[in-house]
Amino acid sequence: MFDDDAPSPRCVICPRQLLHHETGRYICIPCEHRIDADLRKFAGPAGLYARLCLRIQPGRRGGDGPAVSGTPGRGTPANLEILSLTANGGIVSMLETWVEDWATYGLAVHGTGGRLQHRVDQAVDTLRRNLTRAASRHPALDECAREIFQAARQAEAIISGERSPRRVAVQCPCGTATTVTLDTDGFECRSCEREYGHGEALKLPLAERRAA
Ligand SMILES: [Zn+2]
Ligand SMILES: [Zn+2]
Repeated sequence: MFDDDAPSPRCVICPRQLLHHETGRYICIPCEHRIDADLRKFAGPAGLYARLCLRIQPGRRGGDGPAVSGTPGRGTPANLEILSLTANGGIVSMLETWVEDWATYGLAVHGTGGRLQHRVDQAVDTLRRNLTRAASRHPALDECAREIFQAARQAEAIISGERSPRRVAVQCPCGTATTVTLDTDGFECRSCEREYGHGEALKLPLAERRAA
């Protein structure tokens, strides 16, 4: 709440000052609509998640792991990136992490598990249903909006075949995941401070949370 003398607060996402009818909110109504639109893109059989999954063909049993149709060989940048987004630890975990976070504010309900697509749909559903209340109760919606937007943007770029800096999450042997672009010069693990050059960084395993 703000008194008449104080400047009205700004939306935590865009710099717009909140209007009178937006009093008490952290974000403006247009930003809420943008988050909702981004969330909606992921869900359902025609959503971004399902369309990314369609690009993966399971590898032969006991073979060399999944391959992406239409690409020669394994381990191509597009393949790595799609796997990184569609595996447990990718889009589904990004969404579920926000579900867990919102649940601590009483703003979301934990999903019931199941297939990855089902988990994506459940997470999107609970976040969308609670978004309007979150707008007034969750102070870190900017971070949430950014992650959702970036994941949607990355998935759209892959599906449209647009060339963009490819990003993958790789895992240091110490267990810490780091997101790198495929043209990375290397990085230093923020936990164990081990340094990786370009080639070493891209040979690290993809970060993936094991199902409980
Ligand atoms: Zn805004
Ligand atoms: Zn490390």
